[in-house]
Amino acid sequence: MVSMGDFYVTLKTLAETISVAGYEDELRELVIEFLKPYADELYTDSLGNVIAVKKGKGKGKVMVAAHMDEIGLMVSHIDKNGFLRLQPIGGWNPLVLPGQRLLIKGTRGIVRGVVGMTPPHILKEEEAKKIPEIRKLFVDVGARNKDEVEDMGIKVGSIAVIERTVEKIGEHRVTGRAFDDKVGVAALIHAFREAEPGDVDFYAVVTVQEEVGLKGARVAAYRISPDVALAVDVTVAADVPGVPGEAQIAKLGEGPAIKIMDGRSGSGLLAHPAVREKLIKVARTKGIPFQLEILPGGTTDAAIIALNKEGVPAGTVSVPTRYIHSPVEVLDLRDAVNTVKLLTGFVDEITEKWITELRGMRIL
Ligand SMILES: [Zn+2]
Repeated sequence: MVSMGDFYVTLKTLAETISVAGYEDELRELVIEFLKPYADELYTDSLGNVIAVKKGKGKGKVMVAAHMDEIGLMVSHIDKNGFLRLQPIGGWNPLVLPGQRLLIKGTRGIVRGVVGMTPPHILKEEEAKKIPEIRKLFVDVGARNKDEVEDMGIKVGSIAVIERTVEKIGEHRVTGRAFDDKVGVAALIHAFREAEPGDVDFYAVVTVQEEVGLKGARVAAYRISPDVALAVDVTVAADVPGVPGEAQIAKLGEGPAIKIMDGRSGSGLLAHPAVREKLIKVARTKGIPFQLEILPGGTTDAAIIALNKEGVPAGTVSVPTRYIHSPVEVLDLRDAVNTVKLLTGFVDEITEKWITELRGMRIL
């Protein structure tokens, strides 16, 4: 079983690699390296998903998806004075951007820039209270004009992320950028290494473009036609000051969250009850702590996989994470390691009989 130390190394490697939705190339190569030694089959598809197969007896297919893409920014304009403008990719809170350092992927390598801010000294009181608009923010890369920016290898369409390394805080916790969903990818990689599937074949799918509409998972599920599926992703841990208990969703350190539903009024995933109950049973028999999750906004790859072809019973395992979609996400490594245990236990215990019951169509 993976140790917290080993998991931390995997997570740090993944989360410090830039993989903005649609531009996951660099991370994809790393993911392939991690999975290859353990895979009976390994391939990519035309959108860039990575599909690794570990064979059981071939009596069914279980797909577990984690998304490798992260939210990011795209250079949308370069002005004559050398300042850049940005287009968001994925769901940003504009409050986190001003005052940040960016890593911009240019054609000649990484270029650093900063998201400029008006100093408080010259701000009017009402201006200081305003929420910034991303289209009005600008990036300073230290250039004096447009030519200098272009000489750095930056073009309209270059992608960028907030510069942030992964660091430990406290005894079991880590902070960094894009744990959504690099922690899911890390958990899937370790579960794939450890799994010993019996009746079914294990399809570990590291998807692209989740943050922009669950796109990779949609085409991967079509190709694979799984009998049952899970997504592994982060969920909101709002166990912080100012949030009442009933609105905290999940808490750090209390184990992986087994999803009951997500999306506004159930518009995301209503986890298949049999899949959800199997996860709970695996957690109970293996002594894995867990919490149940109802998330009233946002969803995961499981929502689209569930609608593949004639329908796929699907569930989600979530790693509770604070400050999601900010550069200071925080999670507990014990939850991450327990997520690996839960995924591995789930995959290993699936039988042909259970799959048949799960998929059982009645002809009346
Ligand atoms: Zn995610």
